[in-house]
Amino acid sequence: MSNLLSELLSERRWLMADGATGTTLFAMGLEAGDAPELWNIDAPEKIRALHQGFVDAGSDIILTNSFGGTRHRLKLHKADNRVRELNAAAARIAREVADKAGRPVVVAGSIGPTGELLEPVGALSFDDAVSAFKEQAEGLLEGGADVLWAETISSREEIAAIQKAAADLGAPFCGTLSFDSSGRTMMGLTSTDYARQTSDMTPAPVAFGANCGVGASDLLRSVLGLTEKAPEAVVIAKANAGIPKYVDGAIEYDGTPALMGDYAVMALRAGARIIGGCCGTTTAHLEVMKKALTEAPEALSRPTLDEIEAATGPFSSEGDGVFGHAGHAAPKARRGGRRRAGGASSGSA
Ligand SMILES: [Zn+2]
Repeated sequence: MSNLLSELLSERRWLMADGATGTTLFAMGLEAGDAPELWNIDAPEKIRALHQGFVDAGSDIILTNSFGGTRHRLKLHKADNRVRELNAAAARIAREVADKAGRPVVVAGSIGPTGELLEPVGALSFDDAVSAFKEQAEGLLEGGADVLWAETISSREEIAAIQKAAADLGAPFCGTLSFDSSGRTMMGLTSTDYARQTSDMTPAPVAFGANCGVGASDLLRSVLGLTEKAPEAVVIAKANAGIPKYVDGAIEYDGTPALMGDYAVMALRAGARIIGGCCGTTTAHLEVMKKALTEAPEALSRPTLDEIEAATGPFSSEGDGVFGHAGHAAPKARRGGRRRAGGASSGSA
């Protein structure tokens, strides 16, 4: 399948993705509880500035402002009748910025969780989920997205539903899960589980990997798990800039640009080929990451867990990231799942 992302991957050793959408928009004045997607129509200049900052910092891939763009998420803001409009607008703004970059920049249509639990654990049927993701994807493709990009997903059924929506539309697909401190997603998947699931997807994803979760070290451990199980795959690493901490009621990320530069090289050494940042990652972080990746030597050894810890800080839990934390049973599905999937403060990749 010919698409801009696959073309670039065939030519380059690595591509740099972008940084944080959610935390950057909060810095621009988005309030907790607001739907960022409404800004695609109400404040397009801010979304343009968001993308332009990432492109200027060297990103080869930018994600559209459409993470919460399913009918289920938009319903919380009484905008579930505007799915197509808001997603098309999101992709159109990113497309405009990408097309005047003077170099190829991929527009990835961001798709986040619905916030609903899928059958058999929850009430949302697989077919209804596929239908919702298709509606969103059609808007993203209409606006000019090159690829559909699922992120911060935690359930096997939900990532499968997004992949099915992309396949039905004939669109290239990428997907990243969010692994928590236990090395498992909120719904209990490990990096091994996910590598196995992607190997059964038809057509195969262009790339898959990990985003968000806890800190950069934990994410790198999950990337090691993915590249060990799927050494031929194109693996994505999109780590938060440090560890999220509550400071005066707001979430802050303590990772410095230098730390994210070290993280980027560690991700490359771990076998990731698409490297970017998630929550807390600003253009200042990306500039250092780009320089570090550009200057990374050709021959790189796979990092040990000790080397990762020395570079980007301690892990939040024991374990090897491949099977999840041995002493930590898979968490039971719970409605608390809405927390990550719901609030823009935690979910907006
Ligand atoms: Zn994030």
